[in-house]
Parts: sequence; structure tokens; C-alpha cells
Amino acid sequence: MKKLERLGIRTDMELVLHLPSRYEDETKLTDISDAIFRRTGPVQVEGVITMSEVQYRPRRQLVVFISDETGTLVLRFLHFYPSQIKQLSSGKRIRVRGELRQGYNGAEMVHPAYRMVEESTPLPDALTPVYPSCEGISQNYLRKEIAICLKKLDLADTLPETLLAELRLPGFSEAVRFLHNPPADTDESALLDRTHPAWIRMKFDELLAQQLLMRRAQLARCRQKAHPFHLSGKLVEEFVHHLSFRLTKAQQKVVSEIRRDLGRNYPMQRLLQGDVGSGKTVVAAIAALQVIGNGYQVAMMAPTEILAEQHYHRLSEWMTTLGLSVVWMSGSMKKKERETVLSAIESGQAQFIVGTHALIQDTVRFAGLGLVIIDEQHRFGVGQRLVLRNKGDTQSEIPHQLMMSATPIPRTLAMTFYADLDVSVIGELPPGRKPVITRLINQERRDEVIGRVHAAAMQGRQIYWVCPLIEESESLQLQTAVDTHAMLMETLEGLSVGLVHGRMKSEEKQQIMKEFLEGKIQVLVATTVIEVGVDVPNASLMVIEHAERFGLSQLHQLRGRVGRGDAESVCLLLYQRPLGKTAKQRLVTMRETNDGFMIAQRDLEIRGPGEFLGARQSGQAVLRFADLEKDGDLIEKAAALAGSLLKGEMADADRIVSAHLQRWLDNREEFLNV
Ligand code: ADP
Ligand code: MG
Repeated sequence: MKKLERLGIRTDMELVLHLPSRYEDETKLTDISDAIFRRTGPVQVEGVITMSEVQYRPRRQLVVFISDETGTLVLRFLHFYPSQIKQLSSGKRIRVRGELRQGYNGAEMVHPAYRMVEESTPLPDALTPVYPSCEGISQNYLRKEIAICLKKLDLADTLPETLLAELRLPGFSEAVRFLHNPPADTDESALLDRTHPAWIRMKFDELLAQQLLMRRAQLARCRQKAHPFHLSGKLVEEFVHHLSFRLTKAQQKVVSEIRRDLGRNYPMQRLLQGDVGSGKTVVAAIAALQVIGNGYQVAMMAPTEILAEQHYHRLSEWMTTLGLSVVWMSGSMKKKERETVLSAIESGQAQFIVGTHALIQDTVRFAGLGLVIIDEQHRFGVGQRLVLRNKGDTQSEIPHQLMMSATPIPRTLAMTFYADLDVSVIGELPPGRKPVITRLINQERRDEVIGRVHAAAMQGRQIYWVCPLIEESESLQLQTAVDTHAMLMETLEGLSVGLVHGRMKSEEKQQIMKEFLEGKIQVLVATTVIEVGVDVPNASLMVIEHAERFGLSQLHQLRGRVGRGDAESVCLLLYQRPLGKTAKQRLVTMRETNDGFMIAQRDLEIRGPGEFLGARQSGQAVLRFADLEKDGDLIEKAAALAGSLLKGEMADADRIVSAHLQRWLDNREEFLNV
């Protein structure tokens, strides 16, 4: 079993659930002459050895001639054991499988798979499974071990027969056995694309296990304790009253969802989704005020310094008029400053703490943390979020948690990997926003683009100019930004052109962003550091160079930096030919839609789920078989069944749940409950 751990297999059941990735058809024999004639793909032939010798030129090798009634074939072994010389001696019958090629002595196979047979040895009547494996673990070993497990394990169904009939699913035991040994006449394509009923059963089971697990985690959360922050909403009312805008209906709705959660005595775990610019920050501020109003602290963590800094400024502006104390905490702070902040946090004097990853360092100790807010949550790993939450784990109370994301999670993904969270959606942008107009422009027309930048600046608008992403080299990317900045300074004489990039000192960045916000900088040349969250409403033109190098959600985020004020905003995506197929798809999608959900859906189709899950997935790579894109209907069915099982709506529900989880997720709960 030790050896199998390298494949992530720790139990017999996991071995049984180690399903083939493909099959080889060894149920048929081909005549040697036919094989020579066709010479494509692997074939299986059988013959008698007519000659076998060790040759020394051009190098030491074992050469074996075999014949059937129709022709002769050479087998060549460049590595072999002495025992094989004996085994492969004249007169013996051998069954070989491999690909033919043209050699010195006619058709030959190099290192074919073979077995010694008798004339009467039957052909297998099932397709031969080929398992995912790694070096040192042979297919034969896997086949043997799996066959043993299939015999000895109890494969009784976890689901009752009536239910299976209703769902039109085959039995579990029947399905696994089938997949390990499909009969010769099976439609192989249905096996490979996993549309065969046996595969459907596996996928359904897997999804059901995952749904059960996530929902159980959610139920377990309700048994934990958190401080209930009752709706003494004085601060909130005052705050809302002083805002320069009215909350949208959508914002009001999510505010009331969050405030209700905060009033409960178990920890909130809510994901606040809203497209870029939908106004999540103000919602977070209201949540924070409810907690602060009850004498507890709030921590807000953002993934980049620029964003954290911006939140800090905006929140301080809002909060200080209410007489509250907001502090800022970042990795690049000076020691003195940092010590002052740390002690303010520890004494409870600091009520609202805004920062980057720096917040999760050991030295940060809270007096009483009541709410953790994570902005752009997909940028953080599960571990990081957990650390912050645990910092409030005093007197066995756990802080409430609000996660925010502008990267909308497609429905199937939300239903699977986020099934343990409550989700609020701000499905509407603040009034007066005009959709950003997106144009695709050949990089060769850069001069024209510079002309448009100039014209926009003359009308008092501000402009972002995003430099190309150069994944291979950060220093090259930096250089490009510096060069672009110099070039624009020269060509846009008379305009003030700023530069911001990731390698700058935090104060420098802050200074530049401040000047841009105040309108002192008209054109801001930037790397992707401005990708998330940055909010400068007067900026209405976004230029992205080499847009073909960016991912869809990244482009959407970048574009979201404009269209925040009342001016008509434009996003120019400069591209260089030739465009690859997916790059083209991405750019066209950007031109066609401003809808974050649609874009996320396309992104999922183009790239798969990895990007959305971030680190969340790492601890629970539970879905091996189901495909989020193709198996949407199965996900729905599994979710519905999980719901009714956990509500105890079915006979024997408890037993079914525990049997099913035991079978599918034995000991894999470690990363849940975050
Ligand atoms: P995001 O959801 O992308 O984080 P922000 O919270 O940064 O969006 O909000 C974007 C901009 O919209 C900010 O300038 C914010 O003050 C403004 N805003 C938020 N809510 C409203 C509203 N109801 N009416 C008008 N402007 C709003
Ligand atoms: Mg934001």
C-alpha cells in the first residue's frame, strides 16, 4: 500500500475508485500480414518464435523472430534480462502488443508488451484498463491489486434502489466493476468521454459526497459560537445619512442579509459578490459599523497594498466623521510606526484595521475581533483566511466573516466549491453608470491611440495606460513600463504622466495614487498593480497594451477601473497579430459584453475552474470525475438529494449519509469549515 500512496491512494476503497483513464483492446488478434499492411496504431498479434538470438551490432540486443500463418515479424529488445533469453526461445508461442515500424529485417516492434501463451490460451473478453500511474507502479500491479480489492471489499450500494431507479442510475458495484473491466463490445467513446451510465454513477456519487460534505460543514458552523451584534444601528444610520449617494436596492438587500447574519450567535460566513464597481465597499463599511457600534473590532484585508491603502483612505474619511479610529497596517511599514499600530490594535483603541497580508502576522493581536472582511477573496488562500479568523478566536467565540469578490463565480462552481457559504449578490450597478465601450485596436495603430489619450486629457478626463503583462520576466515587464512612461512623457508634452508599478516603495505608490485621485496626474502608466479595486471615478479611458496576453477576468477587472463616473468611458484593447484562437475568443468576448457573470462563464469554458478556486481548491481536490462544465445537471440533482438527506426527509437518511461519505471521502475533511 505504501507504494500506492504516491498516487494518493491510501485505502482499499480509494484503490477501487482509481478508475481507468483509457483502455486497450486485447480482445482481438490481428494477422501479422494485416498488421504489416495497415501499420497504424497499436496491434496485437500472436505467433511462434522461429529464431531468437542476442546480437552485438550496432549494440547488444535481443532479437526475436515470430511467425503466424500469414507472415513474419521481428521483436527487438534493447534492455533485457538473461531470463528473457530463455523465456523467448524458439518454438514458444507468444502474444505481443505494440506498434509496428519498418526495420532492418522488415517489420518490427521495439519493446512490445508480450505474454507467453499456449495455443489454447483464450483472449480476454474485457477491454484492458489503463490506469493513471507514475514511475515504479506498473499497470499489471495496479490491475492485480484492484482485482483483489474488487473481490474482497464490500461494494454494497450507499443509495437505496428506489432512489437509483428514480435517478436512472446503475448500481454502484455494477458500475465500478464495469469500468474496471468493460466487455469487449462496449462503446469505447462513451467510456472515454465519460458519458456511459457507469461513469454517470461515479460522477453523481462523487458530487453527492461533496455536496454532503460542504453542507455538513455549513451545519457545523451553526453550532459554533460567535458574538451576536444586535441591530443597535445608530452608527449605521448616521453613516448612511451622511453618504453622498443613496444605496441601490441591491445594496440595501445585501446589507440587510449581512446585518441579520451579524445578529446571530453563530459565525456568519458570507460571500458578497458584485461586479466591479457595484459598490461592495460601502456595504462592508456598514457591516463594520454594526460590529464597532457593539464595541468590537473589525479587520479588513485586501490583496494588494494599493487597494488596502485606498480602502484605508476611503474608510478613514467615512469613519473619522463618526469619531471612529481607523488604522492601517502593511508589510512595508517602518518599525516605529508599526509598533504604535500594533499596540493600538492590542489595546482595542484601533476599531477598524485595514491592511494587507501583514494583518495575519504573529505579532498582530486583537483586543476583540468581531468581524473579518476579506476583499477580493479569491486572491487569498484558505490558510491565510483561516489565520485571520483564528485571531479573533477568544473566549471560544469566532469572528463573523465577510468575503468579497468581483470575480463572479459561475453557478456550477458556486454550487460545488462554495456550497458551504451563504452568498449575497449585488446584481445592479449604481445608477447613471454607462457601460464601458470596448474597442479592439491593432497594436500598430498605437499613434492614433496616443492621439485619443491626448484628446481625452484635454477634456479634463483621466487615463490609465496598462503595460503588457510579461509573465516570463518581471524585470522585463518593469522595463517596459518605464519605457512606456518615458515615451508618453515625451509624446504627450504638457500633460502630466505618472508611473506606478509593483516594485515601487509603498509610500511612492501611495503618493502617485493620491496625485492621480486628486487629478494632478492625468495619465497613469501602470502595470497590473492597478488591477483590483482601484477607484478613481474621473478616469474614463483605459488603454491596455498587448491585451492578448491577459486572461479574461483580468481584462474585466482592468476595464472595471473606468466607467465609475458619469462620463462615457472607453476601453481600448491593443493587440498584436497573429492572435491565437483563445486570445481571439477572449478579446471578442470583451468587446461583446460588460457582464461580469457572462465573462466568468466564458472564462470557465476557456480555462477551467482553477483560476476561480485559487487556493481554495488545494485542500479538497475532491472532484476527480465530474466536470463542472458538462455536468451541471448532475450537480443540481446531487445538490437536491444532499439537501433532502441532511434535512432527514428520507427514510434512513443518516445511515445513507455516513455510508456515502465514508466511501467517498474517508478522512478528507481537513480543509473544510473555513
Ligand atoms: P466594488 O464593488 O468594485 O468594490 P466600490 O465599492 O469600489 O466597487 O464602488 C465603486 C464606486 O461606486 C465608488 O466610488 C463608490 O463610492 C461608488 N458607489 C457605491 N455605491 C454607490 C451608490 N449606491 N450610488 C452611487 N455611487 C456608489
Ligand atoms: Mg472593491
